[in-house]
Amino acid sequence: MTIRAAPETVSPMSASPVCPRCGEPLVVRHGSAAHAWCHLHGAVTPLHHTALVAHDAIAAVTADARVPAWVPDPMPSGWAVTGLAWGGEPGARAIVVDCAGPAPLGGAAELVLVAEEPGTGVGCGYAGLPGLDPGDVISGPSSVGVEAAGQHAPLWAVPTREDRAAFVGEAYGVWLWLVMWPMNAAWLLVEPLRLLDLRERIYPDLPLGPVGEHLLPGR
Ligand SMILES: [Zn+2]
Repeated sequence: MTIRAAPETVSPMSASPVCPRCGEPLVVRHGSAAHAWCHLHGAVTPLHHTALVAHDAIAAVTADARVPAWVPDPMPSGWAVTGLAWGGEPGARAIVVDCAGPAPLGGAAELVLVAEEPGTGVGCGYAGLPGLDPGDVISGPSSVGVEAAGQHAPLWAVPTREDRAAFVGEAYGVWLWLVMWPMNAAWLLVEPLRLLDLRERIYPDLPLGPVGEHLLPGR
């Protein structure tokens, strides 16, 4: 038996993949881009991210994505897209769009929008929940709602850490998560927030900013 060293296969637009649930670096087996190993969570779908968010990177990731890439449309005043992460290549089964800007009550805020197929664990990673899916959180009346690609999407508040607010619902048959820092950034949802799927349209003046602090889960 010959053991060969695996060549580096890191895509130029993607930094090292991390665990979708905790953000820790992964051991990726060569020849198996679909699965990787987290020392805490075992076999996971690696979460990739861009070190620099750019329109062509967004277009490349969303071109064959199986889930939406949600972004507020219009962006709240002073806000920008500050990061992009995705799980599953080719054909992303989870997409994370990170945005940042002024908080409604003053200071800075960050908003992470996640679309993911069930069983991926990405949204729970940002919300600080232990499982892969929100479970029985979705019951009773919803707390807020957004308009996702023209469809009303009710969202349920998720119990999370004190430094953030998290909401989950469903759109296009997959989970839709909104996780925001600090907790009072949830005031963003007082005004009905409209979301655009970047697979439909990337508007050329979509504002971009430096990578946000919470682009990766577990932080
Ligand atoms: Zn992990």
